[in-house]
Amino acid sequence: MSLLRASFGICGILALVDTLLAQTALVEYLAYLVALAAFGLAAWWPDPLPPPPAPGQWSSPSVERERTQAKCSGCGREVDAGWSMCPYCSTRL
Ligand SMILES: [Zn+2]
Repeated sequence: MSLLRASFGICGILALVDTLLAQTALVEYLAYLVALAAFGLAAWWPDPLPPPPAPGQWSSPSVERERTQAKCSGCGREVDAGWSMCPYCSTRL
């Protein structure tokens, strides 16, 4: 429970007290509205985000992805063995 939520709740309580003390219907009605808004904010106000995780909590990515290499017959550069076309010279593999 954040301090902001608690202060909204206190505002709602004060507004409810004000409805009891109001001498005209308009003031009483407005105090009810304020109490409703304050309790609504106290209930729905989002909590602050949790702090970010400490460094070192994440697993490090694998150094090298497993992939098989092949040589392009057109330009001789290394391409992935699963590819059907060389991205450098557009030769079919
Ligand atoms: Zn090529």
